[in-house]
Amino acid sequence: MRNLILILGDQLSHDNPVLAGIDTAQDRVLMIEAAGEATHVWSHRARIALFLSAMRHFAGELRKRGLSVDYVSLEDGGGDSLTERLSAALAKAKPRRLLLCEPGEYRLATCIAEACDKAGVPLSIRPDTHFLCSSEDFAAWAKGRRELRMEFFYREMRRRNHVLMQDGKPEGGRWNFDAENRAGFAKGGPGELPQPPRFSPDDITREVLALVERRFPKHPGSLEHFAWPVTRKDALLALADFISHRLPRFGLHQDAMWSGMPFGWHSLLSAALNLKLLDPREVIAAAEQAWRDGAVPLESAEGFIRQILGWREFIRGVYWLDMPGLLEANHFGHERPLPQFYWTGDTAMNCMREAIGQTLSHGYAHHIQRLMVTGNFALLASINPRLVHEWYLAIYVDAVEWAELPNTAGMALYANGGRFTSKPYIASGAYINRMSNYCGNCRYDPKQKTGPRACPFTTLYWNFLDRHEEAFARNPRTVLMARNAARLSAAERAAIRQAAGNILETIHSQ
Ligand SMILES: Cc1cc2nc3c(=O)[nH]c(=O)nc-3n(C[C@H](O)[C@H](O)[C@H](O)COP(=O)(O)OP(=O)(O)OC[C@H]3O[C@@H](n4cnc5c(N)ncnc54)[C@H](O)[C@@H]3O)c2cc1C
Ligand code: SF4
Repeated sequence: MRNLILILGDQLSHDNPVLAGIDTAQDRVLMIEAAGEATHVWSHRARIALFLSAMRHFAGELRKRGLSVDYVSLEDGGGDSLTERLSAALAKAKPRRLLLCEPGEYRLATCIAEACDKAGVPLSIRPDTHFLCSSEDFAAWAKGRRELRMEFFYREMRRRNHVLMQDGKPEGGRWNFDAENRAGFAKGGPGELPQPPRFSPDDITREVLALVERRFPKHPGSLEHFAWPVTRKDALLALADFISHRLPRFGLHQDAMWSGMPFGWHSLLSAALNLKLLDPREVIAAAEQAWRDGAVPLESAEGFIRQILGWREFIRGVYWLDMPGLLEANHFGHERPLPQFYWTGDTAMNCMREAIGQTLSHGYAHHIQRLMVTGNFALLASINPRLVHEWYLAIYVDAVEWAELPNTAGMALYANGGRFTSKPYIASGAYINRMSNYCGNCRYDPKQKTGPRACPFTTLYWNFLDRHEEAFARNPRTVLMARNAARLSAAERAAIRQAAGNILETIHSQ
């Protein structure tokens, strides 16, 4: 055999560069299911099922194309780890080399290289063409910059890729319409919402769902609502549906949250993008075309495109720039354990119950729920960033480490000391109250810092300001918060510290 071509679970594109120039007479594709990939973090069952089902569908498509595929399934014997299974496959096939597209995770890149080394099989890695900005390009852009700011990277990407541009200038005369994209809902809530399409499980998916139930019965999350696209065909339908029905109002209420509204106007395309069932270029082009056709306002098209062309590419660039150190980042030295209710949703805080509850049901929560509810709480409650990272990597269907870790460590927890954010994203219950209806159904009162009905977010927020007042006073982006803290009397500070201490004690017994 000339090439054994390894395709990982998040590399399911027919444009995968390792498939270019394949010779069916001498080359075979290898795909491996490994239980270790579901257990190295305690993965949500829907996340496991999504990967397995998408992989099985993709292997079928490759076979239909006439390619030879060695598929190692979970039910096949051998060790649990991907490395053990790969080593066994290398020993059996004895290829002249293993061909691989750049893996999306540092850990896997390292262990695949080690397995090849041990087996004496040369490893040939092809650059990942899925992304619009390679890791090398990103490193060149970042070189010499004191601070990495997504906004400047995004402008560069707009120019380079001619997206929403007119004669070298941004369409609409502005790069960013974020100010228009932060509205909460009026008292009556979101009203009638366009429901995202559901992709009913076919035979392959049903088999996978049963396997996951059997093999991972104690893992978190439900499979009851599993309806994610698992093939490129379905992912394209999901994209078309989003562009027609939800993109027009995507921007306006992007940050809003409401009880019983798990999806809002969000695209739900992250998992399909991260598995590479969709190409980011086609997603961006579809949104831009919808605006050019007059079907969606510029604020919505720009707001959505910024997420993909800006944030998604930027986050991946940061991941490869800062690994492996990012895994250990802990700017504030936080060491508390993750409260058990992150895995069950069993807490009296309604906002956390809603965000975690829908996460367990669907493997999904939107960005602000992740950043300003579960992430904000983890930061305010001094939870160890490594444990928070392991939770986010486990619990969302779209979770892949290159996307998850910089968002968790960098954006939500400020664990990397503000490498790409100008201040910690912390907020009291007042923010959650403004952006949602969660507080109306909560035992706590977002306005109260202390007392029996004090909102834990509010207490811990003021406690955080109290602890970090000096550092906040030195940063122009947080100086106002420091001034607010400076107005607290000694008695108020003592009461806040006491209340915060009580909360931190009790959250671990909930
Ligand atoms: C703590 C935390 C952890 C996160 N973990 C992940 C993760 O594991 N995988 C993941 O894909 N996203 C992650 N995100 C980013 C973001 O929350 C999700 O991409 C988004 O909620 C997915 O839902 P959607 O497809 O409906 O997104 P939409 O709101 O419709 O946005 C469109 C697309 O833009 C991209 N995008 C938007 N924001 C980001 C971002 N900050 N970073 C990277 N891509 C972005 C996604 O591909 C998304 O599908 C995380 C955010 C936070 C705060
Ligand atoms: S009162 Fe506090 S805990 Fe309750 S929903 Fe509002 S922010 Fe969350």
